[in-house]
Amino acid sequence: MIPAQFEYVRPESLDEAVRALADGGDDAKVIAGGQSLLPLLRLRLAYPELLVDVGGLDELRGVTDQGESLLIGARTTHYQVIRDPLVAAHCGLLAQAAGTIADPAVRHRGTIGGSLAHADPAGDLPAVVLALEATLVATGPEGSREIPAAEFFADYLTTTLHPGEILTGIRVPKLGNDWGYRYEKFHRTAQAWAIVGVAALARRSNGQVTEARVALTNMGPVPVRAAAVEAAAAGADASAAALTAAAAAAADGTTPPADLHGQPDYRSHLARVLTGRALAAAAGV
Ligand SMILES: Cc1cc2nc3c(=O)[nH]c(=O)nc-3n(C[C@H](O)[C@H](O)[C@H](O)COP(=O)(O)OP(=O)(O)OC[C@H]3O[C@@H](n4cnc5c(N)ncnc54)[C@H](O)[C@@H]3O)c2cc1C
Repeated sequence: MIPAQFEYVRPESLDEAVRALADGGDDAKVIAGGQSLLPLLRLRLAYPELLVDVGGLDELRGVTDQGESLLIGARTTHYQVIRDPLVAAHCGLLAQAAGTIADPAVRHRGTIGGSLAHADPAGDLPAVVLALEATLVATGPEGSREIPAAEFFADYLTTTLHPGEILTGIRVPKLGNDWGYRYEKFHRTAQAWAIVGVAALARRSNGQVTEARVALTNMGPVPVRAAAVEAAAAGADASAAALTAAAAAAADGTTPPADLHGQPDYRSHLARVLTGRALAAAAGV
């Protein structure tokens, strides 16, 4: 279908983009890679009157080392994240999960900022930034602010970005070498969205897991931390049996959706199995 008519601007600076978005009010929307927004426009599920294209803002692109953390520009593409040496060295989980997104064509156009701002419960990166305890950086007419990932995803396709705010970057704390990681994704075909996904991080010392972080994709309207699993895994033996036992609590407190791909009890089963696998891989067993 052809999208409804809209105005289009491609600002050359962040200030200009913020002004254009503010001037457009409720009827303006940011567009980055267009991989999620364009299908919505074509289906006429969204009909903004103004699109503010951030594609010309080079300041929002790339990865910089900021000492304790990396700052990843919001319009860094999935492809760039996958290939970036700083990401590989300090938060490889992000590159591993980005490598499971769609196909090469989508990964070359889609951006990390677009994935997070879109807040699709089946999107892979929201759970990953939650597990990495990242912070999202936004700029709007009132200035800039930083939002912890745990406070960013508000509901289905909804974030806590204020109207007129542009996501400019993602601040990811560096992980030490004692952390292992794994993103496990169960999908119908190689290039499809997650029916369930699990982002796991484990810190290991002397044959034990000393700390674990687990976040779930598509087990509710927003990504969730599996707190009961994290508590059970911390102090457990770094063995497949102990981590499978810890993973039994993976679906506790979740509200998985029902759709063509699976009912809630099926998703709960997947969450338990994938969490056991992801934790074992993260702990190197
Ligand atoms: C065939 C196909 C398969 C896919 N499979 C997967 C998959 O398996 N896993 C997965 O996670 N994703 C998948 N995607 C989505 C893909 O990852 C998109 O790249 C991503 O969701 C959106 O990024 P984008 O840059 O294209 O954002 P856009 O489509 O440009 O924008 C998406 C939304 O974010 C907002 N937005 C974008 N950038 C900003 C910003 N800087 N500040 C504020 N708001 C912003 C827009 O206003 C819009 O509401 C798939 C897409 C396609 C087309």
